[in-house]
Amino acid sequence: MNAPGTQAPAAFLDRDGTLIPDRGFLTDPAGVELIEGTVRALADLRHAGFRIVAVTNQSGISRGLITWDQYRAVEAELDRQLIAAGVRLDATYVCPHYPPISGPCDCRKPALKHYRDAETLFSIDLGRSLFVGDRLSDLLPALALGGRGILVETGEGRTHAAEARDRGFDVAADLLAVVRNTLSNKD
Ligand SMILES: [Mg+2]
Ligand SMILES: [Zn+2]
Repeated sequence: MNAPGTQAPAAFLDRDGTLIPDRGFLTDPAGVELIEGTVRALADLRHAGFRIVAVTNQSGISRGLITWDQYRAVEAELDRQLIAAGVRLDATYVCPHYPPISGPCDCRKPALKHYRDAETLFSIDLGRSLFVGDRLSDLLPALALGGRGILVETGEGRTHAAEARDRGFDVAADLLAVVRNTLSNKD
């Protein structure tokens, strides 16, 4: 655990394909279902002193495929299920942009704005942080910010595993495997 005033590492977690199955553009909170092992993974991260921050690209909002109200209902349902299971996210950062329609932005992963904002808000030690997701864009911020990028093979992850390994990232079966590998190999 971290004493007051010291910096904590964070686990920056993708949502779709990492915490919940990737169902495309999810508009209905009834479609929110935790990937197996998620609750245990978050509990173990919390116990190890990590901040837990979800970072999600939701281009469906700018593309007119999801309304903000639908997005917020899905986010609230995810939070509700986690809290009911005894864990929670410290924050969720969402990029609603889709560059071909809304123009370039500084928050769509792998852009760094959300990570920098969380670093400031939660006093995060980026060098000890984890960047976890099922696409390269979830991992690439680790190269710019320090920390470790780890691909999960849930969601779209299996499709991107070879490329992730080529880029020097670790690959794990799912978020719980990430947590078990990381917390048992602490330097
Ligand atoms: Mg994903
Ligand atoms: Zn954005």
